Amino acid sequence: MARRRQLYEGKAKILFEGPEPGTLVQYFKDDATAGNGAKKGIITGKGVLNNRISEHLMLRLHDIGIPTHFIRRLNMREQLIREVEIIPLEVVVRNVAAGSLAKRLGIPEGTRLPRTIIEYYYKNDSLNDPMVSEEHITAFGWACTNDLDDMVALTMRVNDFLSGLFVGIGITLVDFKLEFGRLWEGEDMRIVLADEISPDNCRLWDAKTSEKLDKDRFRRDLGRVEEAYQEVAWRLGILPEATNSDMKGPEVMQ
Ligand code: 5GP
Repeated sequence: MARRRQLYEGKAKILFEGPEPGTLVQYFKDDATAGNGAKKGIITGKGVLNNRISEHLMLRLHDIGIPTHFIRRLNMREQLIREVEIIPLEVVVRNVAAGSLAKRLGIPEGTRLPRTIIEYYYKNDSLNDPMVSEEHITAFGWACTNDLDDMVALTMRVNDFLSGLFVGIGITLVDFKLEFGRLWEGEDMRIVLADEISPDNCRLWDAKTSEKLDKDRFRRDLGRVEEAYQEVAWRLGILPEATNSDMKGPEVMQ
């Protein structure tokens, strides 16, 4: 098979030219980084699991009318996506205090927030993805007010839907990060959900024990990282039972 042209390599994914104009192939790596690359490692099988988890969640979101860049999964590590113009923002949604919010504002991790909070970060590794406000975003032209309105409306719907979906499988959706892109169809543009949704960019806690089932296990050296990703896939019903026979419940993770 002819080698495809690589367009971009990120910390966890590679983008290749797609088979048709306007498409790309998104390849999921096992590489894990934390602290903007300060900590590096491999989580064996992570790419395969994130490909499946993200496919599942993007399809469920499509079912409720959320536009996404996802077309279809191609194989264990690759999915076909629409080429979009990525908006250089990370949209973080928080339901429960954790991570940088807990640290910045001195709120104990695990405190339920009075309401859902949305934050924006400027996607720029050399600046460490600084937090920015609507003022910065519109003044510097990263997105206009209309784009932001669309992003916020989509983000709130994604949060409502995913929070419910995870409650149904005994998981609290603590917070997560979304990315959006502009999809051009002739003269028309619409904002669509891009990137991935997986335990790499969500905080997922077991609803009963608050066991962490996400990348914080890697960031904080908690161990059993692969098992946590498998547990999420298994609870979502996308792993054959046999694959998971030796790690049924979160009680195995300390
Ligand atoms: P925090 O700001 O607390 O570090 O992260 C909030 C949420 O957004 C967490 O679920 C975290 O996984 C996600 N997040 C924030 N920034 C990034 C990022 O640069 N990469 C990834 N994969 N997730 C991020």
